[in-house]
Amino acid sequence: ISSKLPQVGTTIFTTMSKLASDCGAINLSQGFPGFDCDPVLVDLVTKHMKAGLNQYAPMSGVPILREQIAVKTKLVYGVDLNSETEVTVVSGATEAIYAAVTAVVKQGDEVILFDPAYDCYAPAIELNGGVPVFVPLELPDFSVNWENVKSSISDKTRLIMINTPHNPSGYVWTQEDLDTLAELIQDRDILIVSDEVYEHITFDGREHLSLLTHPILRERTFVCGSFGKTFHVTGWKIGYCLAPLKLTEEFRKIHQFLTFSTATPLQYALADYLSEPFRYLTLPDFYQKKRDLFCDGLKNTPFKFTPAQGSFFQMVSYAHLSQESDYDLAVRLTKEIGVASIPISVFFSDKKDHKILRFCFAKDDPDLMKALGKLQNIK
Ligand code: PMP
Ligand code: GLN
Repeated sequence: ISSKLPQVGTTIFTTMSKLASDCGAINLSQGFPGFDCDPVLVDLVTKHMKAGLNQYAPMSGVPILREQIAVKTKLVYGVDLNSETEVTVVSGATEAIYAAVTAVVKQGDEVILFDPAYDCYAPAIELNGGVPVFVPLELPDFSVNWENVKSSISDKTRLIMINTPHNPSGYVWTQEDLDTLAELIQDRDILIVSDEVYEHITFDGREHLSLLTHPILRERTFVCGSFGKTFHVTGWKIGYCLAPLKLTEEFRKIHQFLTFSTATPLQYALADYLSEPFRYLTLPDFYQKKRDLFCDGLKNTPFKFTPAQGSFFQMVSYAHLSQESDYDLAVRLTKEIGVASIPISVFFSDKKDHKILRFCFAKDDPDLMKALGKLQNIK
């Protein structure tokens, strides 16, 4: 058949996780915790399942979970949300991103996205008849070049897609980034999708600045979040979309036909769990220790790196060591030394090799140490 996504194959995350498993390698490729979630959370799900909460949830999410998300948003960002009209529970941030793009992008609309970008953005745009317009991030820190953004905006620009903290680089947007974006779009008919799935994973005292905190951006943004990242349950596929009433109305029109609603007992369990803020407020510290442990160990390997500002990924460069492509090196390290990573070329629109690998450090400390030991021996 004639493919609607001719350039797309199986995602690199599936490929590398399978290779890691086939080779018995330590899997630092696909981004998911190598440890279990809090058993309290599992008990809560069981409790609600046993209580018979096993039928369809309301389309927009169970009210108590929407309220708890609003409470968290107030506590963390100081922003008031109407949980009835501005919060929607979805089946993972991936759904939120797809539904938001589908809600607003029409045939021929241009959508600005940063290059490199997480893999689900461009296909969502293309399947809706939109035209992705890539703006390269500035290496080595992957910050935004605002002059390039400005010159990429046209009369057809409908949407800009943001990701902070950024996957794969960990770059965290600054207040200046937010202000500049607001200035650029305030007199234009441009909306924003802000992927903030790593909102609670920032380091060295850095604060995640949600686009919700900016009065101009808030009015035009779909903020996409994921409980998978925050509570170590990526397999639950549950997240949320926060957006003003008018945007939420359009968002829900799509969400109701994509998935209609999200697993009921998970929603009640997360609502209970969110009632103790320390459970998400302690996350930066938890991951800071892992990032520090991983970066300390990396110093004994031949890689070059700058510690990530946020997310649970650490990039390393190896151009001084080898001319191998990042894909070839990632595969070879998996097979030969038993550590799997992600070649970051896959995140670039032109798939160009930058000789950078991405490691996920959301793993148990002994596994991280073992992987670091192996990486010391690379040639
Ligand atoms: N956005 C980014 C930047 C991600 O890294 C991920 C990875 N899981 C997602 C979205 C998807 O989140 P979810 O699993 O909740 O769909
Ligand atoms: N977000 C994860 C990563 O970047 C992957 C999630 C997935 O496999 N779709 O590694």
